[in-house]
Amino acid sequence: MTHPFLDLPPLSAQRFAAIEDGVARLLDTRQDVLITQGEALLPLEGAIRAAAGPGTVALNVITGPYGQTFGDWLRSCGATVHDISVPFHTAVTAAQIREAFAEHPEIDFVSLVHAEAATGNTNPVAEIGEVVRERGALFYLDAVASVGAEPVLPDAWGVDLCVIGAQKAMGGPAGVSAISVSERAWARMAANPDAPRRSYLSLLDWKERWIDAGRRALPHAPAQLEMLALQACLERIESAGLDAVMARHRTAALATRAGAVALGGGLEPYVHEAKDAAPVATTLRVPPGVVASELVARALRSDPALPLAAGGGALAEEMIRVNHYGADANPGAVRASLTAVGTAMAEAGVPVDLVAAGRAVDGHWR
Ligand SMILES: *Cc1c(COP(=O)(O)O)cnc(C)c1O
Repeated sequence: MTHPFLDLPPLSAQRFAAIEDGVARLLDTRQDVLITQGEALLPLEGAIRAAAGPGTVALNVITGPYGQTFGDWLRSCGATVHDISVPFHTAVTAAQIREAFAEHPEIDFVSLVHAEAATGNTNPVAEIGEVVRERGALFYLDAVASVGAEPVLPDAWGVDLCVIGAQKAMGGPAGVSAISVSERAWARMAANPDAPRRSYLSLLDWKERWIDAGRRALPHAPAQLEMLALQACLERIESAGLDAVMARHRTAALATRAGAVALGGGLEPYVHEAKDAAPVATTLRVPPGVVASELVARALRSDPALPLAAGGGALAEEMIRVNHYGADANPGAVRASLTAVGTAMAEAGVPVDLVAAGRAVDGHWR
């Protein structure tokens, strides 16, 4: 008997290239797109180690845990790093980026996370891209949590290194990821003697052995199952329409914010302004006296499959994450999540209005 996962025909170079072209269509980019065979941390780290070195002066924007990690990688490459941190309940502004350039005109690399699933905020990349382009710096963007939930347009925004993963709003696999690379970014990498070569982290190896060789022969065996899943996920998005997929996420986010407010009991959207809130996932602040991780544990007892999590690290005390992405960007998942949170609050003695919450959620899906 043939096994559906195990007895697969080889995945051809031609098919691999066609899947890359599907990613390029999704990002509306004419830049080179490379599929990287690992979770998104692979191209995120590979791009920094290739493009940054001791001569680099980087502006690293911290709006959540990933920004912190990128700053650490940049420092470990020998770059001079200027961090800007903004509170996790808000977003960075283009004006703050402009001020940072005025203070440190030698900045030649900007790293930014588009949307943070871990903190629930999203940053105005189009406006920030204008500033970065004016100053001629290389622009590195983590769009893992935004792609599929809101527009991600590397060419229109002047992003030189744009990393995506399929496991959030694309509703796809976690084991493969992709990066679009501008000509400028390739040139910066080629000029960097410390850029990884003959390494799993090397983007330049793939450029030389795959892209420049006409994408006719794969340099290594492909991650076949993940590639098939990525292709299926791209086809599903193309057939539903990217706009419809993004609208589903935006509606889920607005419905979750409205439902949480209507639930009452002191539960509040963690990100103060709706314009700064990511469509991919909504974070909520629990009322004083309630511990978020305990509330989530109680809420999950009714249904462990609900897309609920407590914040990571220190945020576990005060933050609930409603991860309404992929298949969970729908009214049923949002309503069930808020009902479970509300029921857990009521059990803890906090008065809530479950009916009003349900009505507020439904109002957004009409
Ligand atoms: C989810 C996410 C990633 C990928 O990380 P995982 O640990 O695989 O979830 C990278 N960057 C951002 C901003 C993310 O939200």
